Amino acid sequence: MFTELSKLPSVDKLLQQPDLSRLIKIHSQPLVVESCRATLAEIRQQVLGGQVAPPLEQVVMAVVARLATVICPSLQPVINATGVIIHTNLGRAMLSQRAQEAMQQVSMSYSNLEYDLQAGERGSRYVHAADLLCQLTGAEDAVVVNNNAAAVILALTVLAKNSDVLISRGQLIEIGGGFRIPDIMAQSGARLREVGTTNRTYQHDFADALSHTETGLILSVHHSNYQIIGFTTEPTLAELVEVGQKYNVPVMQDLGSGTLLDTAPFGLAHEPTIQESLAAGVDLVTASGDKLLGGPQAGLILGQATSIARLRHHPLIRALRVDKITLAALQATLLAYLENKAITEIPVWQMIAAPIAQLAQRVEAWRRAISANNMQLQIKESRSTIGGGSLPGQTLPTVALTITTDSVNDLARQLRQATPPVIARIESQQLWLDPRTVLPAQDHLLIEVLNRCSIQRVKT
Ligand SMILES: *Cc1c(COP(=O)(O)O)cnc(C)c1O
Repeated sequence: MFTELSKLPSVDKLLQQPDLSRLIKIHSQPLVVESCRATLAEIRQQVLGGQVAPPLEQVVMAVVARLATVICPSLQPVINATGVIIHTNLGRAMLSQRAQEAMQQVSMSYSNLEYDLQAGERGSRYVHAADLLCQLTGAEDAVVVNNNAAAVILALTVLAKNSDVLISRGQLIEIGGGFRIPDIMAQSGARLREVGTTNRTYQHDFADALSHTETGLILSVHHSNYQIIGFTTEPTLAELVEVGQKYNVPVMQDLGSGTLLDTAPFGLAHEPTIQESLAAGVDLVTASGDKLLGGPQAGLILGQATSIARLRHHPLIRALRVDKITLAALQATLLAYLENKAITEIPVWQMIAAPIAQLAQRVEAWRRAISANNMQLQIKESRSTIGGGSLPGQTLPTVALTITTDSVNDLARQLRQATPPVIARIESQQLWLDPRTVLPAQDHLLIEVLNRCSIQRVKT
């Protein structure tokens, strides 16, 4: 065993190998030395376990492979072939070209982030994007924070700390990532008071509760990723506002998905818009920037000027503050709406609006370009989903490429581990690839990855 160990190269010997001295020039000596040490330590354990010492070339290859994993950033682009448009695990909304350019410009230069160019003195970052939001929605004022969860915490803290907040029992939702309304409420120091029943709640339930308690706020929360079907009733927002006004209690709505466009023309159920919430007379409405809005991660708070001013001056906002790159992307995204170009410019809407004939054409091109070793390719009708906690249960017709092979799970793993990773759906023992969520510019990459996997499957 010790003679086997003595056959292993030293770190110095490894560093002299042409492949590795080339990598030193690119990635610096310490990084390569560390990879050599770690690789040798691992091989030494294997030899002590009874394996024979690998030849020098094999050790070099192992060092190169280890270095590749070290320098490869863990966060990387993937191809989303799942057909879920706002896929929270895959980064939600992709940004428009215009938003990307705006981010680049503001990140490569100083900016007037907190500088008032007219007055020549300190300004506020919260003015950026606010005017655009007001123009688009009719809000009196608006403020942007880091995400919608932050928006809800801030608004509840400012409007309802130490007071009762009324909410329909059916709206005590949990969405992904640990966002649970009762917990958020507790964090903000508001006291949750459930109203009505799980499936049915009426305006008069709120009126009863309001006449009995010291209520600070009525909260309405979008059901997000679940549906109540069957025997159900919920008061409309206008009814909540009406009863709130009677008792002088403001209403806040957490919309989540936060669309500015009507979803009905795309064959989807109507998703409540930010404009509608405001028109119904809510005090504040909160929404995500990276769901149906199709912009960067952000929390938008819109509504009454007096309430927004209170939020803007609360100390908590400092901890939730939005980054300049986000503001740049958000402004560019909002501008597309203002110019009526959202459907052609913003990827989320391009995907929602993609004509089925176009999807069919692309998927047919995939099928022709993929060499089907040990795999059977078929084109089948399927459904894409919106995701991101908007439009639960709503789908769009699509055309998918299905792959039948002896081990679908193996193929799915191969695709996930490819460069770039391709994420697909497994259903009925088949792999489903939906073109709706694959950017047309990524088609050739998807085909390349599938062909590589296909060849590997013949070899193994
Ligand atoms: C998505 C969602 C949130 C959280 O928004 P983030 O931007 O992810 O923080 C809050 N409330 C509702 C109803 C949502 O759908």
